[in-house]
Amino acid sequence: QAKQKGRGRVEIFDESLSAALEHRVRTEQDLRNAIQCDELVVFYQPIVEADTRSIVGFEALVRWQHPTRGLLAPDAFIPVAEESGLIVPLGAAVLLQACSQLSQWQRERPGCERLRMSVNVSALQLDHPSFIPTVAAVIETTDIDPASLWLEITETSLVADVERATAAFEALHDLGVGLALDDFGTGYSSLAYLQKFPMQALKIDRSFVDRLGRDPEAAVIVEMIIGVARTLRLLVIAEGVENEEQADELYGLGCTLYQGYHFGRPAPAEKQWQESGTSIVAV
Ligand code: C2E
Ligand code: MG
Ligand code: MG
Ligand code: MG
Repeated sequence: QAKQKGRGRVEIFDESLSAALEHRVRTEQDLRNAIQCDELVVFYQPIVEADTRSIVGFEALVRWQHPTRGLLAPDAFIPVAEESGLIVPLGAAVLLQACSQLSQWQRERPGCERLRMSVNVSALQLDHPSFIPTVAAVIETTDIDPASLWLEITETSLVADVERATAAFEALHDLGVGLALDDFGTGYSSLAYLQKFPMQALKIDRSFVDRLGRDPEAAVIVEMIIGVARTLRLLVIAEGVENEEQADELYGLGCTLYQGYHFGRPAPAEKQWQESGTSIVAV
């Protein structure tokens, strides 16, 4: 009896395992197709200046308009893209789309000449030999000032291979693009590394912002991050600002740039600039 039950369980396990595998294989095939068929949509979320609340830039966040599964968030396909290597062409497609949009806004919108665009880059892209030439080609094609492009790399991916990350960072820095450490505070980068990398900004991970007002320790951590940034002369962007209380507290702690639902959710390009009277400044 027990043996039969056990066998049954094994079968169920096998079935769910093969279903998961099938789902993954299907997702990978679909994704390959999606990159070629322009099913990837880039959403943009504003980054605002704390003092004036005006937009200084946007972060490009990819979505997948799947023919049957609807609009998919990155969590549903970025891991598959990374495991399969598809992140390389996917990342290049997002970069081109985001820089083309930036170029258009800079040319067509008064006051937007110095608008910035942040684009997420995964460690696998950074490691790929085609990455630096791709970035250079996109800058050339879209005719943007390299300084108006920011690449966001997560703190954890930087720590994984410091030597290679350093080389890539230096090459990007030579191209003139800005570099930001994403999800800062969740990894374990030492101050020595931070000083070694030619970068310009830290993005305070949303988990700390979320705990502000409830957890005194979160405020201490945020204050420390801002202190580190000041010392290294880096800009600080707080992620995931959802209400005025958090914005207030961040302001008190010395934060100068905000990003979060309180200032705008990620949305398609045509949904941006709807609110009239948003003034544009450059930092
Ligand atoms: P991230 O780069 O840290 O992006 C910020 C994430 O926080 C976004 O999730 C954004 O929608 C979300 N967010 C912004 N403000 C708020 C807020 O006030 N509250 C809450 N709860 N969330 C907020 P999203 O768009 O789902 O992206 C998730 C992650 O996927 C990104 O995290 C980034 O690591 C990755 N990703 C997105 N686009 C790309 C891409 O083109 N390439 C690569 N390699 N990764 C990407
Ligand atoms: Mg990011
Ligand atoms: Mg982040
Ligand atoms: Mg994140």
